[in-house]
Amino acid sequence: MPDKDDWRRQGQEAYLLGLTFQRKPYTKYRESWDHDHWDFCGQKLAEFAVDGALHEGYATEDNDRWVCPECFEDFRGEFKWQLQ
Ligand SMILES: [Zn+2]
Repeated sequence: MPDKDDWRRQGQEAYLLGLTFQRKPYTKYRESWDHDHWDFCGQKLAEFAVDGALHEGYATEDNDRWVCPECFEDFRGEFKWQLQ
């Protein structure tokens, strides 16, 4: 489990606790956005691999929240995430 003062922590327990995730390629949450940022590490996330952006990871069913594979493994136990 990452340290209590891990730099990726930004109060996510307020909205990410106990959610169910699915592994999938990124799809835009809104048509006007061309990219998004992962929760936790804030890396860029895009529909295509541009500028080294990751384009696959773990998302909630409504595609509102995205967690990259590395952060998913690091935080899944602590946040009690389910994998669908
Ligand atoms: Zn990450």
